[in-house]
Amino acid sequence: MILEKYSFGIGDRFGRQGKAQLQAIINSKKLGVDITPVWNKSHREHTIIGTAPASVRKEADEAVRALKWKGPYRVDADHIGLANVDLFIDSSDFFTLDVADFTGQTANETDIQTFVSRYKRYTGPLTIPGIDEKFTITTKQIETIAKKFLLAIKEAGKIYRHIEEAKGTNNFITEVSMDETDPPQTPIEMLFILAATADEGIPAQTIAPKFTGRFNKGVDYVGDITQFEKEFNQDLAVIAFAVKEFGLPKNLKLSIHSGSDKFSIYKPINKALNKFDAGLHIKTAGTTWLEEIVGLATAGGSGLAIAKQIYRQALARFDELCGPYETVIDIDKEKLPGPEIVDRWGPAEYADVLRHNQACDKYNANFRQLIHVAYKIAAEMNEDYLNALEKHEKVIAEQVTENIYQRHIKPIFID
Ligand SMILES: [Zn+2]
Repeated sequence: MILEKYSFGIGDRFGRQGKAQLQAIINSKKLGVDITPVWNKSHREHTIIGTAPASVRKEADEAVRALKWKGPYRVDADHIGLANVDLFIDSSDFFTLDVADFTGQTANETDIQTFVSRYKRYTGPLTIPGIDEKFTITTKQIETIAKKFLLAIKEAGKIYRHIEEAKGTNNFITEVSMDETDPPQTPIEMLFILAATADEGIPAQTIAPKFTGRFNKGVDYVGDITQFEKEFNQDLAVIAFAVKEFGLPKNLKLSIHSGSDKFSIYKPINKALNKFDAGLHIKTAGTTWLEEIVGLATAGGSGLAIAKQIYRQALARFDELCGPYETVIDIDKEKLPGPEIVDRWGPAEYADVLRHNQACDKYNANFRQLIHVAYKIAAEMNEDYLNALEKHEKVIAEQVTENIYQRHIKPIFID
């Protein structure tokens, strides 16, 4: 099973926006840009909301049927490990092997020394086509990288083989992810991570490194864009090089776990993809939950009332909701409006504060991040929340489609 050149990770917390998201992919196709939709949901998300992996497959199948989508589509078991992969075997055909927790843990000395001697040939000056910088690789450096990453890739190998045994070779797509680590991986680290991946026999089609800068949930990139651009370009060059050197799948490409809405790096990404004629997978599922709330607020009446209720409760349960996301949000509590102020807002005002339009002076990134982590409250509202989604389906769907298409797909893949 081959993943196409461009693919886009969609999926939404409550599984109600499948059609609205797919519509954005259809809009792109009308412009001649083929993008494969990939519905993704992590074990963490399923646990917080109380859903099962089969519900994602159902959402995807139903959306595809309803909109008569004839192109390929996938269902991604996002951020899984050996402990939970079995829950996803039947419903998924894309597996994101998360081995971030194993980075920094050291493999045994024999494995490390075997790896070092195997890749001794890269010591000395190294040029990688597409990168101006000349690298000098030392034995010590390979050893340090092996100590940091070899065990993690060996773990990825175990998960891969476990899935392969259940589903059969070539029946699924494999991603290796280590984006939830600190610090970011350098392009040279990436080169040897890919070497280890090939050694493990993992036919990775996407790899998700941790990039430089902050990828806070639901808001724009915070960091040095020039540095990001440089590393992103180098990563693309390293991947092209590694595919040839180590015999990895020809369509191997980067996967960006964006944490949603990293608008300021979309232009450099678009430029680099064109320059290298490279593919890309980008995950930005969280953005759709926020559009649901924008949609509910815009609908007014009972929709707006629910949006206000979610904010009021989120504020009261700030620490509990933000805890699991501590490392990927930066909320200045001083800049959050009191619930009595929000209660006086009309539909447009609530939507303007929440919607990710940085040109609007009402937009509040602190408010947006808090709502981003507040989906647990909507999950607890249960039928009340789901009925509101149904009642205001049309206005929500407009927001969801427009957001994915205009603010994400267009700048990354089309402009
Ligand atoms: Zn991720």
